[in-house]
Amino acid sequence: MTVAIKKPTLSPAAASFLTKELKMLIDGKWVAAQNGKTFPVEDPATLEIIAHVPEGDKADIDLAVKAARKAFESGPWPKISPAERAKLIWRLGDLLEQHADEFSELEALDNGKPVTNARNGDIPGSIGLFRYMSGWCQRLNGETIPVSSAGDWHAYTLREPVGVVGQIIPWNFPLMMAAWKLAPALAAGCTIVLKPAEQTPLSALRLGEIIMEAGFPAGVVNIVTGFGETAGAALAEHPDVDKIAFTGSTEVGKLIVKAAAGNLKRVSLELGGKSPAIVFADADMEGAIAGTADAIFYNQGQCCTAGSRLFAHKSIYDKVVQGVADQANKLKVGHGLDKTVNLGPLVSKEQHERVTGFIQSGRSEGAEVVTGGAAIGNQGYFVAPTVLANTNRDMKVVRQEIFGPVVCIQSFDDDSLEAVAKFANDTEYGLQASVWTRNLRVAHMMARKIKAGTICINAHNYGDPAWPFGGFKQSGWGREMGKEVMEHYTETKSVAAKL
Ligand code: NDP
Repeated sequence: MTVAIKKPTLSPAAASFLTKELKMLIDGKWVAAQNGKTFPVEDPATLEIIAHVPEGDKADIDLAVKAARKAFESGPWPKISPAERAKLIWRLGDLLEQHADEFSELEALDNGKPVTNARNGDIPGSIGLFRYMSGWCQRLNGETIPVSSAGDWHAYTLREPVGVVGQIIPWNFPLMMAAWKLAPALAAGCTIVLKPAEQTPLSALRLGEIIMEAGFPAGVVNIVTGFGETAGAALAEHPDVDKIAFTGSTEVGKLIVKAAAGNLKRVSLELGGKSPAIVFADADMEGAIAGTADAIFYNQGQCCTAGSRLFAHKSIYDKVVQGVADQANKLKVGHGLDKTVNLGPLVSKEQHERVTGFIQSGRSEGAEVVTGGAAIGNQGYFVAPTVLANTNRDMKVVRQEIFGPVVCIQSFDDDSLEAVAKFANDTEYGLQASVWTRNLRVAHMMARKIKAGTICINAHNYGDPAWPFGGFKQSGWGREMGKEVMEHYTETKSVAAKL
């Protein structure tokens, strides 16, 4: 396995963004934190400090919420027509496209991910989402209701924006998570306070610049950088926030629910996963091996949908184990900005310790380390893509979300779909599952039996702006994307007129 930890040069556009004094966006202005504090942003491949950003806290959240409230209630935003709103959101997608290379570099530098993944996945995915959601502005219609009460009535519903929305996002897909949150909220006519993850604030701040350039009125989008326990918690419990949308760990998701109880704000949650990938004996082996390897190693395994529990039928188990290990050994590990790299560092020291700790726990619980199994490189948060075979349901590595490039493989020898689904469902999570088979009946019967919000057949980590995404069980509440997400950002108002 190659390890090339050499930082390539940034393009002038990305380098110039990093030379600025970075500030937060509140009420259309770029401001420092009230407390004057900043915190450093690190390149996870070299551990170099690449920027400092304001350490916003409760005082800044208060200002941002006030600005969002003002923009929601008065000023130009509530008067803008749905068509104008759509145009603004579409324009934002265009600006993102115009600066796609710069955003890809910032994302690779800040998060560690391969720049080619950012350029081919995160950035076009975000552009596509803004464009798709712009279409909803003019489609949020209510209904006329044929009521049966005595007399003559004209009854109908209105769809209204839910109000001021707090959005807290994680570090694994920083720009895309910002897009997933902002695009539907803007389409509905809400105003927003966005808190990016402390590890990866750069692309959100650059996005703020193009949001203003696109022409959104002041206060419609506010971006506060800071820590979860201070800024995030203040946003989640703020009495003047009408809805909170969160993506991150299940543990923090539960804190968000508690914090939201004060004013019973609406809550939507995209949380953790321990997604099964199930390979049946009749699967196209080449496709299944490449697909299940990518399901776990893409984005260094830092995907909420990562195919971290791989089940292979006993007749093909050895082939799958060897095949996935071969794929792991082919990956080129290095600085995310290097265009030839397939696997970058993990995002932070904390994640590095967490993932290597899990690998150690797998070893001590008896898992066989087929390949990888250790940190690599003499700097940066690199972990070798790791294949653990002969794992079982009782191991910590099989039960808990690792969020790193570590797959746990188990075999199954029961051909009853019920029994296979039972393995897949043996988790507190239910975000995604993939089924690898040529048999249509097996594929679609498994899709029915698996308790997860998204099911892929002969694919994994799939997503599309029109495809609702979210989890069963402790993987979350609600759906992002598709028409379903608009439910979270609108209230239905019922009107009845006695004629
Ligand atoms: P967190 O859930 O802590 O972070 C997600 C977001 O929540 C960040 O913006 C964070 O802020 C914020 N946050 C943290 N604490 C609070 C709080 N009390 N109130 C409000 N907001 C808060 O994830 P971690 O970064 O700590 O990662 C830990 C684990 O979480 C990972 O190993 C992985 O298992 C899981 N995870 C899952 C993700 C998913 O997509 N499902 C994404 C990221 C992590 P800040 O970063 O500034 O502290």
